[in-house]
Amino acid sequence: MLLILKTISTLRSYLGKQEQQGGSIGFVPTMGALHEGHLQLIRTSKDQQHYTVCSIFVNPTQFNDKKDFDKYPKTIESDIEKLQAAGCDLLFLPSVEELYPGGLDNLETYEIGKLETIYEGEFRPGHFQGVCQVVRRLLDAVRPHHLFMGQKDYQQCMVIKRLLEIQGMNIKFTAIPTVREPNGLAMSSRNMRLSEENREKASFIHKTLTNLCHSISAGNIDQQLNIARTRLSGAGFRIDYIDIADASTLEPVRQWDGRQQLVALAAVFIQEVRLIDNVLNCGG
Ligand code: AMP
Repeated sequence: MLLILKTISTLRSYLGKQEQQGGSIGFVPTMGALHEGHLQLIRTSKDQQHYTVCSIFVNPTQFNDKKDFDKYPKTIESDIEKLQAAGCDLLFLPSVEELYPGGLDNLETYEIGKLETIYEGEFRPGHFQGVCQVVRRLLDAVRPHHLFMGQKDYQQCMVIKRLLEIQGMNIKFTAIPTVREPNGLAMSSRNMRLSEENREKASFIHKTLTNLCHSISAGNIDQQLNIARTRLSGAGFRIDYIDIADASTLEPVRQWDGRQQLVALAAVFIQEVRLIDNVLNCGG
């Protein structure tokens, strides 16, 4: 049975009891409109922890674009059914007031360094501060032993690892591989806003990234990046970025030594919907 709690106090008293009985807690934070990617996170947590908590909260502080926030899909009834079917134990469903009792102005900031100003940080100013603000609050409420997130949001995983480090939070972190549609499109709640035709077209993002990864070898990789960029814009995508970076620092790589672990990353618009994707173990 899925238990649904909406306040931090009821959550604390319930989870406190679970912990007293020696149960370890796995946590999967989400913004809802759940898909297989989210459910894979729930299953991974269930495999490893006694008790699995999922949260659904569309966090206003991480949206730099008000339209994107307003249009974020909300499907709470089917989300609850999916969580129940996946065997999730508890859904935490707080209101904005519950998580931000002091309002949304003058919130704390976190020292996340360069991650804040590159790629997603550059194109979505303030986004990662918002992510840290909400994740910090959710972690304080749930107090999990283990946090599960998706590699689909590669930079976000790096930001959260940094948050855990700078806040001295002793919580294990696991990132699971990206779950994809049969055509390769990374599953995303935002895909719901795409027409059937554009869902098919959007599979070109992953194809472009994998082709890019296969095409590079040690040496200068500018030319391959340019080809990928031209292909994406030629296919009608508006590009925020497509790039190859060091997988552990996210520093852009132009001259590859053939050994450094690489990640290929992209953020593009199809119509007015912004999609991101990445491919790890890129090259050679
Ligand atoms: P969201 O609801 O988009 O905030 O995502 C909640 C969690 O699910 C985050 O840790 C995401 O990285 C993860 N996630 C989203 N899409 C996928 C996917 N296609 N495969 C695996 N994890 C995902």
